[in-house]
Amino acid sequence: MIKLNRKAKPAILIDNEESWKSNLIDAITTYGGYSRIPKEQKERLLVHYRHQDIKNILFQSSLQKCAFCETKPGESGNIEVEHFAPKSIYPEMAFNWENFLPACRKCNGSKEDHDTVIEPIVNPYDTDPEDIFHYTDIRIAANDNQECIGERTIRVCGLNSVRLMKPRADILVSLHGFSQALEDAIKDYESADTDIKKRNRKRKIREALETIEVLANPSEKFSGFCKEYLQKCAPYHEAKRVVGE
Ligand SMILES: [Zn+2]
Repeated sequence: MIKLNRKAKPAILIDNEESWKSNLIDAITTYGGYSRIPKEQKERLLVHYRHQDIKNILFQSSLQKCAFCETKPGESGNIEVEHFAPKSIYPEMAFNWENFLPACRKCNGSKEDHDTVIEPIVNPYDTDPEDIFHYTDIRIAANDNQECIGERTIRVCGLNSVRLMKPRADILVSLHGFSQALEDAIKDYESADTDIKKRNRKRKIREALETIEVLANPSEKFSGFCKEYLQKCAPYHEAKRVVGE
């Protein structure tokens, strides 16, 4: 999970949210509850929150990834418009821009109707996940003093499920390989006995750095996991120092 920045509310929502909301509230009053609205009618009342303009702006803000698990569409089902506070409990927030999150089908399904108002979880638009989580090997864990909200978020969204630990393990193998390549390139550089050799070998370190840094780019899947690996990776910092010389 990485920090996301909410984009400006789309015009379609500014123009229509009040009427969409009041139609939904009217139906709740008519039928005596959200769950009692006939299925087809409920779908007609709700369909607007999935408007393409809303999806486009929302998905752009998460760089086309799930806001919770950082997978891309196709890996965990399509990205969907998810209501942070569930619309079944808080129908008055069904068309609230600040209540929307782009989430994959797996996270959306895992979170289901969890009441985030009574039992808050991390919303990456409002909270920097780096303040809440860290990784221990291929598992995400809550930082000290953040156990309550951190562990609840991990449990509610299933952030340590096998479907996420497996790709993290694959990425970790690649990261260890790149880290070893950096170490070897630094040794080569240090043993260079001419300026030309030093220059060429420094270029190799720079290329190796570019390869490893791509994985931590925010638009890449699991970029939060890769970024933290680099922050803790001694050969990476040594290589940055060498190319900065
Ligand atoms: Zn997800």
